[in-house]
Amino acid sequence: NYRARSAFKLIEIDDKHKFLKPGDVVVECGAAPGAWTQVCVKRINATGKVSSQLKGKHVAVDLQPMYPIEGAVILAPLDFTKSLSQTRITEILGGQLANAVLSDMAPAASGIRDLDQDRILELAYSVLRYAQQISMDGATLLIKLWAGGRIKQLENEIALHYSQVKVVKPPSSRQDSAEMFILASNFKKNT
Ligand code: SAM
Repeated sequence: NYRARSAFKLIEIDDKHKFLKPGDVVVECGAAPGAWTQVCVKRINATGKVSSQLKGKHVAVDLQPMYPIEGAVILAPLDFTKSLSQTRITEILGGQLANAVLSDMAPAASGIRDLDQDRILELAYSVLRYAQQISMDGATLLIKLWAGGRIKQLENEIALHYSQVKVVKPPSSRQDSAEMFILASNFKKNT
């Protein structure tokens, strides 16, 4: 039982690209109500319930309050883009680096397309900058965007730090929506 149908988007993306593994450290931005969090804590074994597997660590952040999810550290309400928020996440990681940074963040739609597009790009850049600080070599980055606007520029910037960058649209993301995801893999720490 997932808190939102958005769970299936992460399930489909990870079933295909297989980046979530037991024992992984994951930072998730824009997590409320928590469907991705539910998928993720299971796949990385963040509860430690599967004793034969490594135990992962999941930190979830959202502007909106969230109900607890076993295995996840939830920081909500918290604005991810504030540097103090990022400092808190880093403290919780306690020196560990992340295997994956995920963002399903989206601004509250204003209805003005260019403005919304600028805002989601700003969120994406903030995720990229933070991911560069806390990701381990080989890490994955998954960011939700809306098609159009200056996405190519962001993709190019991501490609400077990750050896593979793809645009993905999972089947459960409505065909008529502009939603898409950038999936970047194999972070190169010292570039
Ligand atoms: N992936 C979630 C799930 O499966 O339940 C759904 C996420 S929803 C599409 C987008 C979320 O991004 C909203 O809950 C919103 O509050 C959050 N968000 C937007 N701006 C944010 C910010 N600056 N910091 C943290 N969260 C933010």
